[in-house]
Amino acid sequence: MAKDGDRHASRDYTSARVRGFGISVFTEMSRLANEHQAVNLGQGFPDFPGPDFVKDAAKAAIDADLNQYAVSHGSPRLRAAIAGAWRERYGADIDPDREITVTSGATEAIYDAIQAFAGPDDEIVVFEPFYDSYLPSAIMAGATLRVITLEAPEWAFSAEAAAAAFGPRTRVLLLNTPHNPTGKVFRREELEVLAALCQQWDVVAITDEVYERILFDGAEHVPLATLPGMWPRTLTINSTGKTFSMTGWKIGYAVGPADLNAALRSVHQFVTFASATPFQDAMALALEEAPGRGYYEQLGRDYGERRNALRDVLEDFGLRTLPVEGAYFLMADIAGFGFPDDVSFCRWLTTEVGVAAVPPSAFYLDPTRAPLLARFCFAKRPETIRLAADRLRSLRRDDANRS
Ligand code: PMP
Ligand code: GLN
Repeated sequence: MAKDGDRHASRDYTSARVRGFGISVFTEMSRLANEHQAVNLGQGFPDFPGPDFVKDAAKAAIDADLNQYAVSHGSPRLRAAIAGAWRERYGADIDPDREITVTSGATEAIYDAIQAFAGPDDEIVVFEPFYDSYLPSAIMAGATLRVITLEAPEWAFSAEAAAAAFGPRTRVLLLNTPHNPTGKVFRREELEVLAALCQQWDVVAITDEVYERILFDGAEHVPLATLPGMWPRTLTINSTGKTFSMTGWKIGYAVGPADLNAALRSVHQFVTFASATPFQDAMALALEEAPGRGYYEQLGRDYGERRNALRDVLEDFGLRTLPVEGAYFLMADIAGFGFPDDVSFCRWLTTEVGVAAVPPSAFYLDPTRAPLLARFCFAKRPETIRLAADRLRSLRRDDANRS
């Protein structure tokens, strides 16, 4: 087929709304890592396999011909299993028919929820740094982000700063805990401040709790939905991809009152309609069997070891790390390396040293406000962390040679 039609090469057909989206920092850093055969500690995904019992369940589901569209809001077995997990962990009695919706990853649930609850001229309150999909999802709704900045190294915020972000235009609080990229786990007292503001301004809370099972040093994960008065106005979003180390399956879900689920479902049905049927069935089995297999305890222990291993490696090479209570990222101080910003440091580390990291400035509305840090993912095999250590060791030698 001839490709030289009368299309004007100079014309940009991309809609004005989408034009500024660019390429996600994760895609960009993974591409750079591949290009330079760097050890990829950038994009957040495990490089070890998910559990065999879950993989076997997916194969069995395909063989059992569970291969046609699922019910739009999620397979009944998976919704029942999610309700069971909430009962066991939070003592909550969730109606799987009306209070749970399955989506294609947490990303889709976040997108759908924003479209469902925010429109043009509405404001969404988020904590900065914030996960990269939040801003484009808000832009697609025509809504604006109002940020409360978490200040390094404690990632604290004041009640006054939180109150100042809310106002008559606020429709949504979008909260991520455990938090990517900082590893902060919001404390009950902090959540109480936010719950009071949501109630004062009659705001819907969308909470992104995809790392709820990855916690360190006794940190307690408290869902905002469990605070007094918050269930009726909170949609809690999760992802089985993190909990069961199958990020490529893209099975996420939202839990909340029936009216908020109905609004979410009205968007979901026209975005993806339904998520992959055999993977939903496998994740149902995963949730059913995880407690009996001691899976969550093992997951916590394994991540604790991975965090310690990478922390030791980074510290050893002069990259001071910040404390982390949850999720699978370490933030390291790069101020001593002489780079003007985190992007140039991460590019240099990837292309010259052979270890990829993510620049946290991608999580800021105004990247120049980001402190000089780099984000390293420790959802990696011990041999990957050892390989990164070897590469970083050469960096230290280079430094010594230079001085
Ligand atoms: N929220 C946060 C904070 C994340 O880190 C991620 C992915 N790493 C997601 C949402 C997206 O989850 P999913 O892959 O299930 O779409
Ligand atoms: N959430 C992962 C991260 O923070 C990446 C997911 C993605 O590439 N969209 O690295």
